[in-house]
Parts: sequence; structure tokens; C-alpha cells
Amino acid sequence: MKRCKGIYVLIIQVRRNIKVDVGALGEMAFAKGLYAYVGSAQVNMEQRVKRHLRSEKRKFWHIDYLLGNSASKIIKVFYKEAAKPEECKTAESLSRESEPVAGFGCSDCNCKSHLFHIKNYELMQETMQVFPKET
Ligand SMILES: [Zn+2]
Repeated sequence: MKRCKGIYVLIIQVRRNIKVDVGALGEMAFAKGLYAYVGSAQVNMEQRVKRHLRSEKRKFWHIDYLLGNSASKIIKVFYKEAAKPEECKTAESLSRESEPVAGFGCSDCNCKSHLFHIKNYELMQETMQVFPKET
């Protein structure tokens, strides 16, 4: 992953049922399971993804609050070079087979959510086939 612009999908494992205080969204419950979070970085994606992987950081995005919980961790990162509109298109594709966490990560767009509780990992991977790279 070079200093490219693009969008990424973080696959997050939540090891037990947790409640997280998500800043302006208030307290939210997350059931144990796998989640997919769609984001974009139009300046330096590598730096952004590294930031998500760091545990100590100032909480700025909704996702920072979820990742700040000791029961959650990033297990996989998909990414591709793409312009920002792809971010919401990907969120829309994921919403077809996974359950949106209402209002999460989409303060600046019209999506229902940018975080999805994955119900069927195989189906989700099919959607992710348009992402040629993964780590
Ligand atoms: Zn969106």
C-alpha cells in the first residue's frame, strides 16, 4: 500500500457482546461477531489505515470508539485505489447482505451506515472481490 488515495474496508472482530460510548451517537450495543467498516482516505491511505491499527489515539471518528474497546480488533484490511464516491457505493453493496449499524460513520453522507454486522462472511467476501488487495 503506497501513498495512494483510496477506500478501505476494515474487518473487525468483536469477541464478546459490548456496549461502547460512541461520542455523539451515545452508548451503542455491539453483539459478538464480525463487522465491516468502510472508509476512505483521499490523501494518504496507508497512514490512515495504520492509524486505525494503533490502539492509543485521540478519538475522532466513530470507529475510533469501537476500536478503543479491548474486545474489538481489526483482523483484515481490504483496500483499493478509488475516488470518494466509491466509499458510499461499497457501503450500499455491503448493506445488502450485512446489517447496518444505524448512523455509524456516515455523518457526512446520506448512507444508513458505514459499519455493518456481517451475517454471512462468504457472501461478504464476494462483495469484496472488487477489492483486489488485502492485508
Ligand atoms: Zn456513505
